[in-house]
This record gives sequence, C-alpha cells and structure tokens, in this order.
Amino acid sequence: MRLTCPFCGSRGLEEFTYRGDASVRRPAADASEQAWVDYVYLRDNPCGRHQELWYHGAGCRSWLVVTRDTRTHEIFDVRNARDVAVAERQTEAGKGENS
Ligand SMILES: [Zn+2]
Repeated sequence: MRLTCPFCGSRGLEEFTYRGDASVRRPAADASEQAWVDYVYLRDNPCGRHQELWYHGAGCRSWLVVTRDTRTHEIFDVRNARDVAVAERQTEAGKGENS
C-alpha cells in the first residue's frame, strides 16, 4: 500500500505510522465520566470507508487524515490534519452564528 502525502507525493507505507481513528472527537471538559470513558477506550471497528490518522514520520512529519476502505485498502483521500481541523472549527463557528 502507498499513501500520497500532500507535501511529499506518493510514498511507501513504511514511512507512515497509523495513529488511530480520525473521527473521534474530544468531549467538553465538563462532559460526563461515561463520555470520557467512551472517548479514551471505545473505538468502532468499521468495515468499509473509514477516516484514519497517519503520521509521516520518515518524511515531512505531517499528521494526515486518510480516508481508506478497510476491506480493499483503497485510498479515497489524504489531507493535512491541520487543514481538516481548521475547516471543522470554521464549520462549528458557522453553526454558532446561525443559532
Ligand atoms: Zn509527507
């Protein structure tokens, strides 16, 4: 399997490290204990399209959000994790303005 880093181009998987589920979101500081237990310990094991965090440790050292099919290993999208986080914050801020 190869990943196409947005900064380095197509590279072998040995340059990257899988760092977990990219869809998990940290609960609010005052969230319930159960919400924190779920955040720390519980992960889905999806069959199909999944967003994952990968670290390009042997390259540019960027954190990446990779959308991959867990059955076929087909890669649909690779984006800089920082760009994904900024876009999510802007979306959340936009929701706050409308409510
Ligand atoms: Zn890279």
